[in-house]
Amino acid sequence: MQHLDPEALSLFALDEPMDAGSADHLRSCPECTAEVAALRRAVNAARTVPDTGGLEAPGANVWEAIHRQLRLTDEVAADPLGPARGQDAAEGKSPSEEPRPAARPAEKPGSKVTWLRRPVTWLAAAAAAVVIAAGVVVAVNRTSPPVTLASAQLEPLARFTATGSATVTESGDGSRSIEVRLNKAEAGGYQEVWLIAPDLSRLVSLGIMNSSSGRFDVPAGLDLSSYPIVDVSDEPLDGNPAHSSVSIVRGTLSS
Ligand SMILES: [Zn+2]
Repeated sequence: MQHLDPEALSLFALDEPMDAGSADHLRSCPECTAEVAALRRAVNAARTVPDTGGLEAPGANVWEAIHRQLRLTDEVAADPLGPARGQDAAEGKSPSEEPRPAARPAEKPGSKVTWLRRPVTWLAAAAAAVVIAAGVVVAVNRTSPPVTLASAQLEPLARFTATGSATVTESGDGSRSIEVRLNKAEAGGYQEVWLIAPDLSRLVSLGIMNSSSGRFDVPAGLDLSSYPIVDVSDEPLDGNPAHSSVSIVRGTLSS
């Protein structure tokens, strides 16, 4: 499914108008809805202008982080809520008396950064930083969605009636996993998931599946074309790690 891009999610969280297609997608997509909800919480938190009277001014490091995050210009590098810096400039204090000379903006007389001293402006900048940071997280997650490499229909064997599917995906970091879904759990003992060679001579155990579905790591470097058969076995609790030879479902991966 094509999800909404981070910009659209951010705009929606900010109650900006949205095209009908995006709105439709949002109504039917739990993932995007959850992301919008998370972004909206951040926006609401920042929009709620608190009674700043009883609050301590944030430390200079907070502004530095916001400045860095938003890549603001040097003109606004100084902490806008810092100790009376506009007055310092007007009174012509020497830089050596400034607590943090490195953060001093190149202020010209009459070009004060008074707008930055307003709490609302500051909060809006903080809100923007939150939204941008959230958007970056979303974007990073979205840039490399898992790619489906192969899938298989799983058909019942012998006395079993369960059916299901197996899907192998590769995530952005190159790791592969296989998701196995059955319509019911039928094991007399417990279910174990295997990848098996076409002639059934070699097999790799992927793990135990205690419910009707599960996701398993595929060993790095394992050539799936050499082990294309997905098998879910019924294993007795006998301590024997080998395949019980009782398979519930089986299917062959194809891409
Ligand atoms: Zn979506």
